[in-house]
Order: sequence, then C-alpha cells, then structure tokens
Amino acid sequence: MLVNLDRRALLAGGAATLLSGCATSGRRLKGECTPLTPVKLDAAQITRAYGCLRPYRAAGFVVRRDRFSDKALVHNYGHGGAGITLSWGTSRLATSLGLAGHSGPVAVIGAGVMGLTTARLVQEAGFPVTIYTAEVPMNTTSNLAGGQWGPTGHYRESAVTAEWRSQYKAALAASWERFRAMDEQRYGIRWLPTYTEADRLAAPGLAPYFPGSRLLAQSDHPFSVRDLAVYRTMYVEVGRYLAELAADFLRAGGSIRMRRFTTPAELSELAEPLLFNCTGLGARELFGDQELGPVRGQIVMLAPQPEVQYAYTLPSGYMFPRGDGIVLGGTFERNMWSTVPDPQTVSGIVEAHRRLMAGLRCTA
Ligand SMILES: Cc1cc2nc3c(=O)[nH]c(=O)nc-3n(C[C@H](O)[C@H](O)[C@H](O)COP(=O)(O)OP(=O)(O)OC[C@H]3O[C@@H](n4cnc5c(N)ncnc54)[C@H](O)[C@@H]3O)c2cc1C
Repeated sequence: MLVNLDRRALLAGGAATLLSGCATSGRRLKGECTPLTPVKLDAAQITRAYGCLRPYRAAGFVVRRDRFSDKALVHNYGHGGAGITLSWGTSRLATSLGLAGHSGPVAVIGAGVMGLTTARLVQEAGFPVTIYTAEVPMNTTSNLAGGQWGPTGHYRESAVTAEWRSQYKAALAASWERFRAMDEQRYGIRWLPTYTEADRLAAPGLAPYFPGSRLLAQSDHPFSVRDLAVYRTMYVEVGRYLAELAADFLRAGGSIRMRRFTTPAELSELAEPLLFNCTGLGARELFGDQELGPVRGQIVMLAPQPEVQYAYTLPSGYMFPRGDGIVLGGTFERNMWSTVPDPQTVSGIVEAHRRLMAGLRCTA
C-alpha cells in the first residue's frame, strides 16, 4: 500500500545539507580520509513507502508432511523476516519430504518465494507442477521484502524444539549453497560489506554466514555509534529475483492458475496427489494455525544510488542499496494487520537515517 507523504515534514530537521560531504566530527587523518558515500535522504529521493506483513511464528517455520484426504500435503510456511534467506533451504526440506515415493503431477499453493522455489525444486526432480495462487508473484509479500540474506527475525529462541533446530541448520546450509551458486547478474544478487552490531554475529551456529567478519572499535568505523562489526553478505533485488524464478518455472513447462482457497476441503478437489502449502501468512486462515501471525514492517524506498556500496543493520534501522532503489526499514510491529504505512513512523525512519548520515565520520 502506498502513502502520500508530506515531503516538507520529511525535510524537517534540515539534516539534508549535512549529507553532501564527509562530516568531520570524527577522527580524520591528514590526507587519508576514506568516507563512506552518504545516502541522500532529501524528500525528492523518496519514491514510495509501504507496510507489509512478515508471516511470523515464535516456534519457527513449519515444514511437515501430513496425510490429507487421499493426498499428501507438505507445509512450507511461517518464515517471518527471513523467508528470502531460507527459501531454497526449507523448500529443499519440504520437497525431500514430499517427493519420497511420489509419482505423478504436483500442486504448489502460493507463488511467493516459497511457492516458486518449491516448484522449481519439484521440476528439477522431474515432476510436472501447477502453481495455484491467489496472487501473482509481483503481488506477494515476498516482492516487498528488504532482500538481505540474513537469518534474523523469524523465531523465538525459547519457543523452538531440538527437531526444529536441526531443520533450521539444514535449511540454512542448503539455502546458502544454492544462493551462492546462482547467476548474480541475472537474479539480481550482489554482495556488500554490511555494518551491524557485534552481538548479532555471535548467534550460535551462524558464523559461516557472516564471512569476512571483523570487529571494529568505535574509532575504526564511520558511524557515530558504539563498537560494530562488518561482514559481507548477499542482497537480493526481490522483484527481479521473483520474476526470474517465475520465468524459469514457466520455461520448464510449469503453469500458474489463479485461485484462492477458502477451506482445506477445496484443496482436496485438486487432481494432484501431492500438494505443497506455501501460502505464507495465508496459512493462518486456510489451515487454522493460530500460532502464525503478522509482524508488520514499514519500508521507505529511495531512488537508486549506485554509488552507495555498503549496507547496515543498526538499532536505528537498516539500509540496503539495491539496483531498483535504496531500502530503509527495520520496524517490527506484532499483530498489526494493516498494510497502510503510518506517516509518523515513515518520517521517523527517514529521520533516524538522516541522523546516522549526518554523523558519518572519516576513518583511515
Ligand atoms: C518489511 C519486510 C522486510 C523483509 N525483509 C526480508 C529480508 O531482508 N530478508 C529475508 O530473507 N526476508 C525478509 N522478509 C521476509 C519475507 O518477505 C517473507 O518471509 C517471505 O516473503 C515469505 O514468503 P512466502 O512465499 O511464504 O509468502 P508470500 O510471499 O506471502 O506468498 C504467499 C503466496 O500464497 C498465496 N496464498 C495465500 N493464501 C492463499 C489462499 N488461501 N489460496 C491461494 N493462495 C494463497 C499468496 O497469494 C501468495 O502467492 C521481509 C518481510 C517484510 C514484511
């Protein structure tokens, strides 16, 4: 959902003038200043703002095979704020569960990132696939994601089981490998140095996914915040990525049928003996999973700035530069179902990044 912003309100604070060059409040060594390129945040850069809903479960994503009338049904939903990241991985787990001993055509319900990656893996295993979906890929939550390859914001540590943890570990490894093997140019994937809080990199088992990580003392990084870490990760231009996945699917003989299911009984009418449920937040209503709920994020998109070649995820929010624009976000609002962005939150997001940019320092 788009919103008309009061551009004058967004200019309030007057920090824009500070963004034109390297601020000098920090350490500057004679002739050795290497500033980060500041993100331009004046109102003219803002192209749109929107709210969208992460399909969140405290107990983590669901990948499970169920018997369903005379069919097999495999769930693959509930990835919270990490669905792009986990997509190839949980879809690999789901297809392994579903395709064992299977013959004949397959139905995938949903055309977001989970539906498309599941469908591609089923095709790669040699089975014909039809995707049934209420919305085309460009109208899904997946198409609104920030696009960082980062396993965060998708479960609560105290709510998950040991069995889930081992699924998670396998999913992460499989997804990482698949993403790294993809044609970056074609799918809109690029690697960028990413600044973040050091604690974030200390999560158990995640070290392989923060390559090149280094701790930086306050005097050694350009932000006027405390000690940070920097590492490299992938950023996915989600629109291009989904379009390419959908094109791959169609080229391989798949078909997409527009259909919204309101009850599980309607699914049992499908001809295919194996179904994959990739309905994201839709699984709450369709399958009555009350543990699944929305965590709303609000995003501000800026016009592309190709000269910005770094990203950050800081307490004040995140900034991901993509080919189609700069993504500003990082808000998490539980159980908010509205996708209408709140103008005050939107102004707050922009202002937080302005403050950060205004404090950018040169480092040696
Ligand atoms: C603000 C924000 C930022 C994010 N940033 C990132 C990020 O940087 N990195 C990352 O990895 N993840 C990120 N995510 C998370 C990611 O967007 C989601 O986890 C992911 O998109 C979920 O994909 P999905 O395919 O399960 O669901 P969706 O994309 O919602 O697709 C669901 C599909 O199912 C269909 N469907 C639903 N119900 C029915 C029904 N009853 N009948 C038929 N079809 C149905 C829909 O039409 C749709 O096609 C972000 C999310 C938000 C909201």
